[in-house]
Formats: sequence, C-alpha cells, structure tokens
Amino acid sequence: MEATKLNYFRKRLLAELRQHARQVGEDQAAAIDAANDGAKESADLSLRDVIGEIALRLGERESQMVADIDQALLRIEEGSYGRCVRCNTPIDERRLEALPTARYDATCQAAIEDANGRSARPTL
Ligand SMILES: [Zn+2]
Repeated sequence: MEATKLNYFRKRLLAELRQHARQVGEDQAAAIDAANDGAKESADLSLRDVIGEIALRLGERESQMVADIDQALLRIEEGSYGRCVRCNTPIDERRLEALPTARYDATCQAAIEDANGRSARPTL
C-alpha cells in the first residue's frame, strides 16, 4: 500500500483510538497525542504502552476494539497492513474505509463467519 494511504489509515485508527481513550479520561487521550507526536524514542511513553494502559481500564468489548486498533497499527509498522492475515490477498480499500481494523478480506471473513455461525447460531 502507498505511504500516503497508509498514513491516512493510520490517522483514522488513531482518531478511533482517541475516542476510546476519552472514555477513560482526557489524560489518556492527551497521552496518545504525546506518544504519537513526540519523536518515538524520546516520548515518555510509547504509543503501545498508552494503548495497553487504556485497554486495561475499558470494559471487555471496548478493550477488544482497542486491541484491534493496536494490531492494525502494528501491521502498518510491519508493512502488512491492508492484506488479509489469512490468505495475504489485498483487502478491498472500500472495506478498509468502512472498517480500518479489518484483518481479513471479504472472502475469508465470510468463510470465518460461516464456520463460527454454524456452531454459534442457536437452533430453533
Ligand atoms: Zn483472505
């Protein structure tokens, strides 16, 4: 994925992260900006530390959403963002627009939901 697009999605993810952080407190939201703005090595806290701290204070569901954002940011750093973690196919950008934390392409997502659905769906 092009650097400008990666940067765009990184900003989207950080904006989402900031919203979750606000639920914990303005201090945490500010910590994200500080960790993100500062030169990586000189910041008091790394972004990853801040994210971990926030996730600890959120409920289970939101904590999972924060973890998804964290993993998406990691994939951006590793250069694997925008590719399905299951089959390595590039994920449709419209899909990433709608869900920047998406880790599967539509085909794998459907296959996984199908597999889960069959066992999880209550039989009426
Ligand atoms: Zn896939």
